[in-house]
Amino acid sequence: MTQAVRTTCPYCGVGCGVLAAPDGTLKGDPAHPANRGRLCVKGAALGETLSEAGRLLHPTVAGGRTSWDAALDQVAARFRATIDEHGPDSVAFYVSGQCLTEDYYVANKLMKGFIGSGNIDTNSRLCMASSVAGHGRAFGADVVPGIYEDLEEADLVVLVGSNLAWCHPVLHGRLQAARAGRGTQLVVIDPRGTATSAGADLHLPLAPGSDVALFAGLLAHLAEAGALEAGWIAAHTGGFEAALAAARETAPSLPRVAALTGLAEAEIRRFYALFAATERSVTVYSQGVNQSAAGTDKVNAILNCHLATGRIGRPGMGPFSVTGQPNAMGGREVGGLANQLAAHMRFDMPGAQDLVRRFWGAPNLATRPGLKAVELFEAVREGRVKALWIMATNPADSLPRAGLVREALAACPFVVVSDCWETDTTRLAHVVLPAAAWGEKSGTVTNSERRISRQRPFRAPPGEARPDWWMLAETGRRLGWAAAFAWDGPAAIFREHAALSGFGNAGSRCFDISAMAGLDEAGYEAMTPFRWPLPAGAGEEGSRLFAEGGFPTPDGRARFVATPFRGLAAAPDAAFPLLLNTGRLRDQWHTMTRTGQVPRLAEHSPVPAAGFAPGDAARLGLEPGGLVRLASPHGETVLRVAIEPGQRPGEVFVPMHWTDDFTSSGPVDRLVGAATDPVSGQPELKATPVRAEPLPVHWRGLLLHRRALRPEAPGLHWSRVPVVQGHVLELTGAAPLPAELAPLVEALLAAPAGAEQVHLADPGRGIWRFAALVEGRVEACLFLMREGSRASLPSGAALAALLQGLVAEGARPGLLAGQALAARPAERNICACFGVGIETLRACILDRRLTTADAVGAALGAGTNCGSCLPEIRALLREAQNETEAAA
Ligand code: SF4
Repeated sequence: MTQAVRTTCPYCGVGCGVLAAPDGTLKGDPAHPANRGRLCVKGAALGETLSEAGRLLHPTVAGGRTSWDAALDQVAARFRATIDEHGPDSVAFYVSGQCLTEDYYVANKLMKGFIGSGNIDTNSRLCMASSVAGHGRAFGADVVPGIYEDLEEADLVVLVGSNLAWCHPVLHGRLQAARAGRGTQLVVIDPRGTATSAGADLHLPLAPGSDVALFAGLLAHLAEAGALEAGWIAAHTGGFEAALAAARETAPSLPRVAALTGLAEAEIRRFYALFAATERSVTVYSQGVNQSAAGTDKVNAILNCHLATGRIGRPGMGPFSVTGQPNAMGGREVGGLANQLAAHMRFDMPGAQDLVRRFWGAPNLATRPGLKAVELFEAVREGRVKALWIMATNPADSLPRAGLVREALAACPFVVVSDCWETDTTRLAHVVLPAAAWGEKSGTVTNSERRISRQRPFRAPPGEARPDWWMLAETGRRLGWAAAFAWDGPAAIFREHAALSGFGNAGSRCFDISAMAGLDEAGYEAMTPFRWPLPAGAGEEGSRLFAEGGFPTPDGRARFVATPFRGLAAAPDAAFPLLLNTGRLRDQWHTMTRTGQVPRLAEHSPVPAAGFAPGDAARLGLEPGGLVRLASPHGETVLRVAIEPGQRPGEVFVPMHWTDDFTSSGPVDRLVGAATDPVSGQPELKATPVRAEPLPVHWRGLLLHRRALRPEAPGLHWSRVPVVQGHVLELTGAAPLPAELAPLVEALLAAPAGAEQVHLADPGRGIWRFAALVEGRVEACLFLMREGSRASLPSGAALAALLQGLVAEGARPGLLAGQALAARPAERNICACFGVGIETLRACILDRRLTTADAVGAALGAGTNCGSCLPEIRALLREAQNETEAAA
């Protein structure tokens, strides 16, 4: 590589441009319109995720290495035999928002056009399906009408179910910069206090699942306040009266809205007045809206308010769904959801099946939607789906009732998984195909504002890893459809995708990028980010949509949707009195296959914890740092306790990232139920009834090891973070330490035969330290401490330093007692770029009387690089200011 390569971040739906320089450094691309050079902490750490350690390098069948030909022959033969014997609906693909558009296109064409089943669904079902369905009901197609600039040009931004500061940090940074300039009002609607709500003008901590009631009340209020845009409603919409009547039925009065949402009337009144009075209003919504058994109604309740005020498609106005994954939008454009056909055509659109059949020359086009994610795995478990190919996703950890999903995979006669790393899902596959990863594969992705960007390779895939499109095309050829799957690279696939978007379109479908259908290899290589629609002959990229109506419905009008209020799919009861909410952390991504390798990304939240409101914790007898057993009707787990002042009483929050690879707690989705939205099929991931009970803590420990162990011992709970050249495991014992320690120590140290052992014990104080060395290098260290001991454990960072260099023979007796291992106060890291912890920040702010984030940056550097920690720094500044005022 002699020139910098322009590519796109593989994490969230902001879709930031990344510049991969010839010297191997990665930085934000100043020319990319989404981020203008900025990256959040995850994007900034991308260069640290490029290690080949742990990558899948060769195809395997039944655990044995084989050739690509043999593996793909096996895949094609088993799919063919299953289809011949049981029909096309007995096979399925489960794909991912991590797939590039070209991968998606080939998968969709193979399943829906040639195998002849609708059974291809994507993990975007867990992420955005309710927005897709809501857009379809209101607009006639899955279209996000706005663009990112709208967040900067609005006078009011309403964030619903969105922790934008942690989940879409660069977009949040753009919003904050705009607020500083124009004083944009920010309202955050979220049951939980977050880094985002901490910086809001108004935070509405509504009851889980009550969004429909809040927005029904808003629609009724807009009507009463004379804030409707009657002319626009009459000219461009239908169904208003029925929607308003339903809204009035749900929310006949402010007290009724307050009763349904649990909010104070004054707060609701303030929000309604602000929205009614502010023409430039943008409502951003995300997983807190979508991941619900009433997700589609929530989306439509929001869209109703924007349609009723005509605030759509104009600068600083509109509803705005932000996607979780880097290419959730691309998958939707291709038709990668089971209820879509292709290129924004649905199965039930007149003429669509004929059009797609002709375009693909498809011999066996699917004629009805396939199984959506949750029902797909149910069908696998029940034996109705007998051959399954999973691509770039880890459903054994990420789907609701993950335990049953694992049972389903274990029982399925034939499971293929293509992925980059070993996961809990690959371990259950018959055939594992090594996939090219980010930085190695070539294609396109679409971000939340409809902008299509290139992902370009800047390094060779390791071993025999290959792109997903290639594996799929090779399988299509082996199944007998060589001509339809004969592309020579992603550019040819993209051309076909672009051509299909314009085929028989003539303005009837918004998704049209047919201007790109004639792109040659050089043009594909040089493609700059562009926003759709971009039909053939268009002079410039697409921008805002629907300001003047023109919706892709038969009469060109948008539809108001009546959204009667329904309660939660499963309400808390005496047996399960709390509600489990799952979500993301700032510095981790999905099931941590990539971010879980990076030491500095682990420092912000190193241990999986369940967050409780202070009052709930006190009532339940939970101590911070203690252990809690969480149980739902579907499973149980044991986690550390965190007390979170922002937590809504009656709820508990658990991050969704951890898996069996990283903790004995395993994936929290084992506990989550399988209730789904009746329209979108999206599962309810944020409101599962659970109960919580404290577990005793008898001892704590730290284990440093060069290998990523998954230790087992009675009552042992552990979590693992990476450090340079090794791993640190935090250990907590819910059972007393055995009188005879040796077997436990031996099991935990897992030292190789012949390793030299060093130990230091002070049973009187309740502390024990052990080390195993191989050829003068530390292989493992174990620190144990009885709970209640006045000693304390060293920090993981201090321990990790022992993996560096050789330990001289004379120094070994002092290895476990030196100054470097003196107990240090555990300090949660806030700034991952400069390694600045929360207590350091607090002390600096108080001692130097700092009042601005700029001043903190000047003093400590914190917040001056990627800026992901700025919301937390601002929250600490406010905390200090409140303390000072209270003391005055
Ligand atoms: Fe990547 Fe962060 Fe940009 Fe999202 S905001 S695309 S995670 S750099």
